[in-house]
Amino acid sequence: MEIPPDTRLVALVGDPVAHSLSPRMHAAAFRARGLRWAYLALRVRSQDLQEAVAGLRALGFAGANVTIPHKVAVCELADHLDPSARRCGAANTLVFDPSGRVVAFNTDVAGFARALEEHGVAAGGLDAVVLGAGGAARAACAALGQAGARRVAVVARRPHAAEALCARMRPEFRRTAFHALPFDAGPLQTALREAELVVNATPVGMHPQEGESPVPDPEWLRAGQVVFDMVYNPPRTRLVRMAEEAGARVVGGLSMLVHQGAAAFELWTGVEAPVEAMKQAVGLLPAEV
Ligand code: NAP
Repeated sequence: MEIPPDTRLVALVGDPVAHSLSPRMHAAAFRARGLRWAYLALRVRSQDLQEAVAGLRALGFAGANVTIPHKVAVCELADHLDPSARRCGAANTLVFDPSGRVVAFNTDVAGFARALEEHGVAAGGLDAVVLGAGGAARAACAALGQAGARRVAVVARRPHAAEALCARMRPEFRRTAFHALPFDAGPLQTALREAELVVNATPVGMHPQEGESPVPDPEWLRAGQVVFDMVYNPPRTRLVRMAEEAGARVVGGLSMLVHQGAAAFELWTGVEAPVEAMKQAVGLLPAEV
């Protein structure tokens, strides 16, 4: 494949990245808008993150997406944090501006909110459970706080990570009661029973661990609940199938993937994102023939 010299470059930085649909989705978006841009997936280990970000800037990349497990650590490497990233303490999008500054944004927050909206879920006043306390959980909590959720229980296997996330959110979003719970059967089951919205922000169920689910039993879910699984590879995770079995409504991770990607595309290019083409590229809409 020829990449002409005037091609603008963006990269995905994470570990792993082999599962990612972002290269396909952004390639379709650049094509749809007639832009000579390319998107590369780069596996970067944690100990190499600082050098990788400096390298991308030195090589003249326009920007980057940042994924698991670097979303929190990358904030330390940015020259400026947009409020979307500062509020969460996590970033998924970098823009290398013309003066050479690294500006960090979090488009997962808007992507999560837009996916809920697209599925007709109004998070204002809801009781929610967020599983996980990493970068994606921070984005979900910020979006739920912004929407005015009534209560958010953050369930994590490292209790201090859940508590730290809640402590960060409380002063930002005073209408929402954030509390931390351990990832143990008893508290998890009680929290799930009460929740109107359940968000999986852990990688449990992601390829190659398709057989796993963060919720061990479909009986712990119920009809009338909304179950949002951020994992999108495979699109129908074990949790999604369990939620359907329980009669819950499902929001899959692909919708968020497209909307966080659309927001990043607009930050890099300044051009309106071709959301339909991006949905087609990830299989959310049938491809045009
Ligand atoms: P992360 O920063 O590494 O955080 C992962 C969280 O999950 C941590 O709290 C981790 O706990 C927890 N966790 C991992 N394995 C677990 C297990 N077996 N049981 C219980 N908890 C476990 O990763 P992230 O960036 O937040 O991403 C999380 C997932 O969301 C990934 O699958 C990612 O692809 C997906 N995601 C999807 C979208 C989308 O657009 N659809 C956007 C963002 C993220 P420890 O700290 O104890 O390890």
